[in-house]
Amino acid sequence: MKLILLGPPGAGKGTQAKFLQEKFHLAHLSTGEMLRALVASGSELGKKAQEIMSNGQLVSDDIMVDMIRDRIKQDDCKNGFILDGFPRTIAQAEALDEMLESEGKRLDHVIEIRVNDEEMVNRVAGRYACDKCGEGYHDQYKQPKVSGVCDVCGSKEFTRRKDDQPETVKRRLESYHAQTAPLLPYYKKSGVLKGVDGMADISDVTQQINSIVSH
Ligand code: ADP
Ligand code: ADP
Ligand code: ZN
Repeated sequence: MKLILLGPPGAGKGTQAKFLQEKFHLAHLSTGEMLRALVASGSELGKKAQEIMSNGQLVSDDIMVDMIRDRIKQDDCKNGFILDGFPRTIAQAEALDEMLESEGKRLDHVIEIRVNDEEMVNRVAGRYACDKCGEGYHDQYKQPKVSGVCDVCGSKEFTRRKDDQPETVKRRLESYHAQTAPLLPYYKKSGVLKGVDGMADISDVTQQINSIVSH
């Protein structure tokens, strides 16, 4: 199964991708995570990416397309994958279509997680993650069962992303509307687009997605 989770920053793409990854044994391909690893490597390319990301803008299509092209060839993608954060522009979507077509493959589902912008600033501002295993949490909506201790791995170290401050989030939402929202009619035309109500509780959104992918 090959699917895309589409939605603005904070919609719940990463949260839902984790469930899908476990339930269907798919690879979770988050271009945001790949870019943060590139930044952490300290390379020249990483430095350039960091500047773009901290301004809430998009990294160039060429870099992103090369990154995904290499990644989907890897062994763990054989059983399928969930794209989280890619494609983000029409050019990226077209490049993805070409990559898949050349291997005789196609997308099974593109799932739009529908949310409203005002709430997204809160979602992102309250977001933090475990340093060790990456499990995502939220100040109001998803706290660890034992305060200060990761549910998954027991670590006590957490981090917040620098680009999750309200000013940067507003710019990221603008770039979503200008550059990524045009993907909705693009995928509607090819008949793979489905939508879920992303304002519902985390477990409710998971159920909505499950009922789409199980059909
Ligand atoms: P995205 O990957 O789309 O940017 P995340 O999955 O990181 O979004 O979710 C953003 C924040 O909102 C996280 O702190 C997460 O725990 C929380 N969250 C995700 N889905 C929901 C939901 N349906 N209701 C409330 N909070 C949510
Ligand atoms: P979120 O889950 O909050 O939407 P991501 O972690 O997916 O954010 O992405 C963080 C940042 O990385 C984006 O704001 C953008 O600068 C960059 N980025 C991630 N994926 C892409 C992509 N496909 N194309 C261009 N830039 C990207
Ligand atoms: Zn953890």
